Amino acid sequence: MGRSLPCIPTGCSACCRETTMPLTKAEAALLSRRTGMATETFTWKNNGVLTLLNDTTTRACVFLLTASADVNAEGMCSVYEVRPRGCRTYPNVLNEHDEAILDEGCPHRSQFPEPSEEDAITLLNLEEQLLREV
Ligand code: SF4
Ligand code: SF4
Repeated sequence: MGRSLPCIPTGCSACCRETTMPLTKAEAALLSRRTGMATETFTWKNNGVLTLLNDTTTRACVFLLTASADVNAEGMCSVYEVRPRGCRTYPNVLNEHDEAILDEGCPHRSQFPEPSEEDAITLLNLEEQLLREV
């Protein structure tokens, strides 16, 4: 039986705050259709890479339901079903050797399964697609 992930039980939203999460054009288009928001209102270009925008007051992703700028405050993703792949795969990230590791920015990373080679391939494919779109 798989372990349940800590995000919801702990009320954590740390990775949605001061986010630099990239997304593909297709993911942005889907978010735009589902929310009715123009892409420019929830993304910006980070060195040419489409990236989720943070709210100026809460400094959290514009899709995080929160009124607080506290990194430890609770918050729920308002677009959970259509969140970008980077949000789905986090806290898995690539290290400098292109190995998938658990990101140190996740305060509950010890409760996640160790990433596999398949996770590394998933992240490499996403990275390749993002760079193709720059
Ligand atoms: S920082 Fe880690 S525990 Fe917190 S919401 Fe993100 S993935 Fe879940
Ligand atoms: S889209 Fe959702 S999961 Fe991704 S950073 Fe924003 S609030 Fe968090």
